[in-house]
Amino acid sequence: MVLTVLKCKGHRCSVIFCPVCVKAGISGQCINRLFVFCQSIWSHDTVVHMSDRGTIYIDFDDVLCETALELAQIVEQEFGRRVAFEDIQAFDLEKSFDLNREQWEHMMELAHRPEVLAHLAPIKGAAEVLRTWNAAGYNLDVVTGRPSASHEASGEWLARYGIPFDSLTFVDKYARTHVVREGKDVLTLDELASRDYVLAVDDAPRMLTYLSETMCVPLLVFDRPWNAGWKPDATVTAPVHRCRSWEQIACNAAPVLDAWEKQEGCHV
Ligand SMILES: [Mg+2]
Repeated sequence: MVLTVLKCKGHRCSVIFCPVCVKAGISGQCINRLFVFCQSIWSHDTVVHMSDRGTIYIDFDDVLCETALELAQIVEQEFGRRVAFEDIQAFDLEKSFDLNREQWEHMMELAHRPEVLAHLAPIKGAAEVLRTWNAAGYNLDVVTGRPSASHEASGEWLARYGIPFDSLTFVDKYARTHVVREGKDVLTLDELASRDYVLAVDDAPRMLTYLSETMCVPLLVFDRPWNAGWKPDATVTAPVHRCRSWEQIACNAAPVLDAWEKQEGCHV
């Protein structure tokens, strides 16, 4: 079932609209309120089906869309410096693009303008795989480190490319508090860790470490030049797979989701 996420209002939740009654419920940690709210118009089976399925974490930039390519274009236009995609070897973009702090802040300000976000190219195959997971009943949480001010533009981009999602969560992933948090609607990493995910897809080395070591989530690493040197710690027990495409993500996700569905307590 696809719910429509329009925009964030208050707390750390998204306002989502029931497709039947067109009234708003609250996602995120308050998701059960939606089920209660809509039980009068959804069948009991539907409500149980949705609440028993797990949630899949999907990163946004360079997992759903080609953000680094756009950043490279901005750097070339603004600073006359051409950096090939395969040479973006560090997730620290000051380092990869050889920028000083002032230049980096200028690039990030441009990169998060609505017209620039709208221009990002979708990554081949992502929408199809997410539709499959959505049809199977999994809740899809797109989890991003973008500034929360980009909420509307980000939601519009997902809708434009037909990418299903149940919630759009903003997290201060990279301790960019002064850039990202703006005092509203952004989770800390500790708050993110209180959520349960069946599976996670991400590309940023710091988040790959956090998801696999702190949150113990089965992890699919979207293969990118800046995470080529990343490996899970020897203590990590959850599955970790490196994937070069969304086709490989779908293949590697299948056994993880199968194992999840066989767990006691999952009544799907
Ligand atoms: Mg990313």
